[in-house]
Formats: sequence, structure tokens, C-alpha cells
Amino acid sequence: MSLDLQFRPFELELEQPFESGDATITTREGFLIRAEFQEVVGIGEATPLPGWTESLEDCECALEEAVDAADDGSGAVLDAVEDTAAARHGVSLAIADCYATRGARPLYQYLGDGSRVARVPVNSTVGDDDADATAAAARDAVDRGFRSCKLKVGRRSVDEDLTRVERVREAVGDDVEVRVDANGSWTFDEAVEAIRGLDDADVSIVEQPLPAGALEGHADLRGRGPKIALDEGLLEHGVDAICEASAADVLILKPMALGGLDVAREVVTWTDELGLESLVTTTIDGVVARTAAVHLAASVPDVPPCGLATGELLKTDLGRDPVLFEKGAAVVPQAKGLGIDDVWGAT
Ligand SMILES: [Mg+2]
Repeated sequence: MSLDLQFRPFELELEQPFESGDATITTREGFLIRAEFQEVVGIGEATPLPGWTESLEDCECALEEAVDAADDGSGAVLDAVEDTAAARHGVSLAIADCYATRGARPLYQYLGDGSRVARVPVNSTVGDDDADATAAAARDAVDRGFRSCKLKVGRRSVDEDLTRVERVREAVGDDVEVRVDANGSWTFDEAVEAIRGLDDADVSIVEQPLPAGALEGHADLRGRGPKIALDEGLLEHGVDAICEASAADVLILKPMALGGLDVAREVVTWTDELGLESLVTTTIDGVVARTAAVHLAASVPDVPPCGLATGELLKTDLGRDPVLFEKGAAVVPQAKGLGIDDVWGAT
């Protein structure tokens, strides 16, 4: 009857160095987790991202404690990883994969209301570059089938960013959704000025215009055209405080940073009741966590385009990607559980 839990480290190479907080990273290090319960195996992934989750070292310590808890049969497996988001994500995912597989259902049906979902819409992400290069990258994404483009802004002056956004709007036409993510880099006055111009360019969502701490500022920015989405702010404040301050229209759910699919699902249920939208993005994870994020997104009714097409940021991966991306959507795996081939034995 008991749960067998194991984990092992991995390191994946990134295609390009990635700036995360103050650090530039060239690899993603984490742990694959294997859970076995009543002869059914489930797989999870814990890939910490400093600034968003615990450190790699703390993740490993927490996983060791979870393994000890499984071995001694105390049942306190999730308690051991309660305060370490990435470790909790990995362990809870492996267990959820077990349960969904035992129930012969794809993971998203186990997480959600059980209805069948074939695809979830995804956005492309266009990095910071000059106006010509940004417009060309957005056009290229649309040519590859994306119907939603998210632009990184906030590194340049507001004027420069607005020029970039206008050029993108011209390049992609009126039917493609354009969003921006400022990663908390604007002052309130800059954000007001930016949002005025973004509204003119029919930008649908502005993600994290102000620093994560600015709840009242974000509340003040709502109702000026584009929806206000909080990403870093969700982690800092939690759903309660954001709702109390009416600080967001949309919440960005990063399952690895939130501590697992089950935690993210609780947020979805809650925000749904409150009339907020939720969308799902990854934290540049391996294929196990990316596929889990696709299942989470598929469990959200009428989910807006999500940041799930991030596999191309990795040069090496944990295994074959079971998710096909086509025409701006992720094709949701319909096999039981996560639908990942055996990655435990591979690499
Ligand atoms: Mg963001």
C-alpha cells in the first residue's frame, strides 16, 4: 500500500543565456521525481528558478525529507515539501500522475471537471529588441501560426516601447492579440503614459507594469483599457491580498513557483468565483513540467492564450515532447496521466 518515492538530478542546456532576476543562467538544473503506488508509476519535475522558488540545494534537501517520509510510511510526504515550491511541484505532480494513470484518465481531466479538451491556445513571446527586429519576430510568430504575441517591454524608454508595439500591430494586423510584459519595470507615471499608448494599439493585457509590491498602484491602473495581469505580484502577495486590493484582472499562474498543479487549481477555482481570469505559463522547465502546465491550462475553462510554448528555449531536454504545437495551440495529450514516455530510465 505504501508509496515509493525516488528522485535524481538533471541538467538541461538552454539555447540562449537567460536573465533571471540578477543572474544570467545557461542551464536549468533540477530533479526528476518518480512515485510508485500500487504498481503504478508517476513522474514529476522539480526545477527551481532562483527568485521564483527555493534554491537547488534547498529543493534537494526537501526532496530527501519527502523520500524519508515515504520510506517510513508516515504519510507526511507533502508536509516535507510544503515550504519549497519546486520540490512540492515535483512530488505532488508525480503523485497526481499516479492517480490519474490509475483512473485511466489524462491528467487534465483528473485536475478539472472531467470534460474533454482537445487544444489550449498559446502565445508566442517576443523578446526585447529594436522596433524593426521586434516587428519581424512578431510577424514570424504569426506566420508560424500564433494568434497571440507577448512582447517584453520596460528595458527602453516608454516612447521606444510604444514605437515597438505600434510596429508590431502594423506587422501582425488587427486580428492577432498583442500583450506586453513589463516585468515590474515602470514607475506609476510611466505606466500611465505607456498604457495610454498601448490602448491605442489595442494591446489586450499589460503584465506586471509596476514592481511586485505595488498593489494599490496596480489597482489604479485598471480600467484604462488593457487588462492588468499580475505575475511576480501573485507570488509576493497571494490571491487574497490581490483580490482585496482589486489589483488585477488576470493572474499569471506558474505552477513551479506556486508549489504544484493542485495549488494552481485552487487559485483557478477561487479566481473564477471572483471573476478574474487565469492563464498558465512555465518557468523554462523540462518536458515533464511543461506537459504538466499544458494539462493545468486544459483544466481551466476558456483559458486565454498561455505561455506554454517554451520548449524551444532548451537545447537538451528530459525526453520526447508529447505536446504538438500547431496553429497557435497546444494539442493536449489524451493518454492516461501526464502522457510522458518513460523519462526516468532515459538520459
Ligand atoms: Mg511575466
